Amino acid sequence: MSGFDHTKYSAFAPIKMANRTWPDQVITHAPNWCSVDLRDGNQALIEPMTVAQKQELFKLLVKVGFKEIEVGFPAASQPDFDFVRWLIEEDQIPEDVTIQVLTQARDTLIERTFESLKGVKRAIVHVYNSTSKVQREQVFKLDQQGIIDIAVNGAKHVKYCAELAPETQWTFEYSPESFTGTEMEFAVEVVNQVLDVWQPTPSHKAIVNLPATVEVSTPNVYADQIEWFCNQVNYRDAIEVSVHTHNDRGCGVAAAELAVMAGAQRVEGTLLGNGERTGNMDVVTMAMNLYSQGIDPKLDFEDMDEIVRTVKKCTQLPVHPRHPYAGELVYTAFSGSHQDAIKKCLDLRNNEDKWEVAYLPIDPTDLGRSYEEVIRVNSQSGKGGIAYTLEQDCGFQLPRWLQVSFSSIVQSFAEHTASVVSSEDMKKLFEATYMSHEQPYRLGAYTHSRNTYDEIIAKLQGPTTSVEITGKDHGALNAFTQALSEWTDTKIDVQEYHEHALSHGSDAQAISYVQVNINGKKLESAAIHEDTLTSSMNAIVASVNQYFNLVELAVA
Ligand SMILES: [Zn+2]
Repeated sequence: MSGFDHTKYSAFAPIKMANRTWPDQVITHAPNWCSVDLRDGNQALIEPMTVAQKQELFKLLVKVGFKEIEVGFPAASQPDFDFVRWLIEEDQIPEDVTIQVLTQARDTLIERTFESLKGVKRAIVHVYNSTSKVQREQVFKLDQQGIIDIAVNGAKHVKYCAELAPETQWTFEYSPESFTGTEMEFAVEVVNQVLDVWQPTPSHKAIVNLPATVEVSTPNVYADQIEWFCNQVNYRDAIEVSVHTHNDRGCGVAAAELAVMAGAQRVEGTLLGNGERTGNMDVVTMAMNLYSQGIDPKLDFEDMDEIVRTVKKCTQLPVHPRHPYAGELVYTAFSGSHQDAIKKCLDLRNNEDKWEVAYLPIDPTDLGRSYEEVIRVNSQSGKGGIAYTLEQDCGFQLPRWLQVSFSSIVQSFAEHTASVVSSEDMKKLFEATYMSHEQPYRLGAYTHSRNTYDEIIAKLQGPTTSVEITGKDHGALNAFTQALSEWTDTKIDVQEYHEHALSHGSDAQAISYVQVNINGKKLESAAIHEDTLTSSMNAIVASVNQYFNLVELAVA
């Protein structure tokens, strides 16, 4: 019998709000960020970080620009305690960065926490206890008053310990843990009682953090909870409302964004979303979402690859290749129509313009990624991606008619090898298909004169002997094809022609592309030479050679 049964679950009851205002708000500036990588993130690892890994990650967090960093749970873990001591004793905390530590609301743990902080210039002491119905009734077996007592006692003891160390600038933070599962009136009641102990003022605020410890509803419901709380709580102008969302329903970032619209001023999260279960809300995604809207995120992700490398190294966890903004594949287009659209937009783009490129919400170069990574060619790719790659890597600007012809060749190659086609492979394929037809005829020296008509007198090296051919017509290429046509006794007609200078390499060279109809068969070729006319004539000879090689194959 299957255990898959939705009737086992009940829906989260939305809160009744008549005049919610958050849906009309627009985020115009970044919230205050607090990284919890070294605490929440660390707690969730298979192998907790070593002190060395914590040191490396701390340096990265500082470099990215976090001004508040929760560095551990020193009363609960000796490595965390040692790490906090290292930060203080080795003077590792920059002038503009404040460290934060977490503690449960229990006297002995609070005392040990303050011990770890001895000598620090500034610190946030973050005290929490769980307030939800489930936790009250099933975990703590306490009524609401019992939970309030834990919170108030904790707040008092934090205040007491801080008064014993007046040389440090203390900020207090309280979290009603499992806030989202707590009746809203009760959450406000607990917080008000804690604030009555701390007596925060607008010039010395306390932080009230409202965690979605488990994400249990759609983000709009969380936003309602935040707005309702902000409207009801006392000391509103003396507290900084912080949110801390998890990603159980996959909406951790959305919930934090909507919470900011609903009045939250501060957001706790981790780089790339490491954290308990499905993770914490991902600061990279939320900050980059702001960035992509033209808002300064106050964090710097310029070297995204280094960030990804360091996070992976310290957490020993992989990063999904499609992780927003940071994944390996997120600036890569595989589908032909996407590649086509991207190429068109990039070609038209002027660097002073606002960013507006189809399929690319931000400019990958902002994060140290490159355009070359945008296009990868596989059997799903169209002519746009192929043309883009050849132009970027070889300088070949294929005309449309040749893009069509060449893309079918690249596609069958990709299907055959069942993999991504590198630009090197693509260049080899192009040369083999259009540029390697040197038998049976080869163009030697020639002269071009122009009176009423263009006249071409050219030496042609044939399979056995060399001959001189002559042709007269309007245009040198017509004169040449006429001579060639007569001598080989075939009907030769140049149907498409395109040439351009090649910028790759030191000597100026030209490449010519031709499509020639020979006795009813269309053949494409290309050739490179310093002289444009020579490259065009060589391309025509290459098509003639293709024709005779095909005929020979048919006869054989
Ligand atoms: Zn958490």
